[in-house]
Amino acid sequence: MLFAPFIEYPSTRTSPLLRRTSRFEIRIGIMLTMRRAVYGIILLLLLLAGCAPDSKPNSPTAALEPAPKDTLQVVFFDVGQGDSALIVFPNGKTMLIDGGETDQGRRLVQKLGQIGVKQIDWLVATHPHSDHIGGLIQVLKSLPVGEVWDIAMAYESPVYRDFLLAVRNARTPDGKRPVFRKVRAGITLTPARGVRVEALAPREPLLIGTRSDPNNNSLILRIDAPGGSFLFTGDVEREGRQRLYAARAPLRADVLKVSHHGAANGTDGMFLRHVNPRVAVISVGAGNRYGHPHRETLALLQGRRVYRTDWHGDIVMRLGADKKLHIATTRRASEPASAAMQPSKPRIAGVVIGNWNSKVYHTTDCPRLPKPQNQVRFRSAHEAEKAGYRPHACVMGE
Ligand SMILES: [Zn+2]
Ligand SMILES: [Zn+2]
Repeated sequence: MLFAPFIEYPSTRTSPLLRRTSRFEIRIGIMLTMRRAVYGIILLLLLLAGCAPDSKPNSPTAALEPAPKDTLQVVFFDVGQGDSALIVFPNGKTMLIDGGETDQGRRLVQKLGQIGVKQIDWLVATHPHSDHIGGLIQVLKSLPVGEVWDIAMAYESPVYRDFLLAVRNARTPDGKRPVFRKVRAGITLTPARGVRVEALAPREPLLIGTRSDPNNNSLILRIDAPGGSFLFTGDVEREGRQRLYAARAPLRADVLKVSHHGAANGTDGMFLRHVNPRVAVISVGAGNRYGHPHRETLALLQGRRVYRTDWHGDIVMRLGADKKLHIATTRRASEPASAAMQPSKPRIAGVVIGNWNSKVYHTTDCPRLPKPQNQVRFRSAHEAEKAGYRPHACVMGE
């Protein structure tokens, strides 16, 4: 097996003892020897205690494969521009949260096979946008599914229609029709001993009239297991987050799946203060047209460990018997500490088309351009925003 050993998360922090030694080296010789002796003893004690600092600069790489027994494994799949995460609970039960775009479905099913997944016990659609539910269609056609969790909001799109059709035709492991659960905040689940899943959003009545109602009504899940907690946020934007604060939802988590592929409307300082994650994961496609992750989001995340599917590939996290979080990735990329410093290419450049009725602006090649009589041209997105126009989904992404 090609599974490189995981680095325990806290130990990958720089080893200040070693670094400071080399700085002193240049200056004072005698003090250095003394310090070295002291550090040597400290290091020896650390080694004896089994927690020697690890100074490897990169995350270890890993192949996708079944998790060891009694381990909680979370995999954030690289599905290009979209979201998909698998949770294998310590008892082997599985939850799949989103599946990327439709064209990612086959690859996703393949990856599930590599991990040894034979069935999905809970298949979760955070919201009906195609970059979240598209790939789930192939999963529903390929594997038995126990339950489907959906926000069940009124939403018209060919992909959502295909998804609902696939749900209707899907089968549970014993040949029945899967339960279709309309999920709201407050629903909890104990998928395995000591593990708790809780839905924090959406709440009734669903939000209407926001920039993106599907995003703001995203199903938000937290998972608590011995040694770690995860927060899956879908694509929630500002209005959805405000509801979480108002409801005093328990947001603190060790690992945050950053909302909306790192878009500026998916994260703000207030939210990060509430969640205070040790690790942030951005699920995003390389060279996507929306410029995700946005510079503003990365600036807010600086100083935290950031993993990105466009850089790190599939991101594998494990919580085992030692109750520590171990992280490995399928692609070697630079330090997670610096992943927060490189925004994607600039957002759309050049002319945008506004709709003077709705005060929304679009890219010139948007499939949903306003009627010609309602169009107003701006030289740039910046100019449109100065005029009080808001970006359409074709600018911000879904
Ligand atoms: Zn979305
Ligand atoms: Zn999305």
